[in-house]
Amino acid sequence: MYLASIVNRPTIFVDGAPVDVHDASGGRFPAGIADIYEVWDEFRAWASEQNAGRPGDIDVATLGAPSPRPSQVFAISLNYLDHAEEASLQIPDFPSVFTKFPSCIGAPAAPVEIARPMTDWELELVVVIGREGHLVSDADGWDHVAGLTIGQDISDRELQLAGPSYPQFSLGKSFPGYGPTGPWLVSPDEFDNRDDIALRCILDGEVVQDFRTSNLIFSIPRLVSLLSSVVTLRPGDLIFTGTSSGVGFARTPKRFLAPGQEIVSEVEGIGALRTTLVASGS
Ligand code: ZN
Repeated sequence: MYLASIVNRPTIFVDGAPVDVHDASGGRFPAGIADIYEVWDEFRAWASEQNAGRPGDIDVATLGAPSPRPSQVFAISLNYLDHAEEASLQIPDFPSVFTKFPSCIGAPAAPVEIARPMTDWELELVVVIGREGHLVSDADGWDHVAGLTIGQDISDRELQLAGPSYPQFSLGKSFPGYGPTGPWLVSPDEFDNRDDIALRCILDGEVVQDFRTSNLIFSIPRLVSLLSSVVTLRPGDLIFTGTSSGVGFARTPKRFLAPGQEIVSEVEGIGALRTTLVASGS
């Protein structure tokens, strides 16, 4: 099942055509996309009865973020071996977790204003939580996942790495729009193999990242389990699962984003997120 946000309303696709969930269900399900995750299991069962499937031709510019007001956004800083190596960081035995403050979450086609000069890209698979959970086992991890979407963990490297021993990861990745997500949520059953999904980040036509989620250090169910060993995961929460090698600041010479550039973030089984960079104040 594919779930999109059209004028902030949960929308499924039947024979490729958009169907408004609230109206088609006779008001049984919420009119606001942010509220659908509270009733996810019932909604999923209903959507299956409607034969919900892939979107047809749709203008992504009209779509909102699949989960626009998450109560919590978790992000994992080292979850692929090659990114840990390029950043000269040790492999953790528990995920290194920071937050992207929820106000940075943006719509799939929203232009991103470059706040400061050392702004970088990080393509990530993003998990949307569909069931509340604390102390979830690895075996039950996928059952708490509503679906997957594409995200860019846009990062200000200067602010991110500022400070003597506690760098500002959370602030450095939370400027307005630094968390574009979308274009829609795809339920895990739609993937050929939900544990092995290909991702490609293309900057102005050049492939800069190319990786697969089978190389995650902490798999998606493991992340659900480990995060929920501390916090309660809530419906609509997001997990940015980490990026692989190929980011700008780890290159020689370092590369950063500039106004006018376009990032295309492709994820197998989901589609593509197109992010245009614009100057601050534009
Ligand atoms: Zn990241």
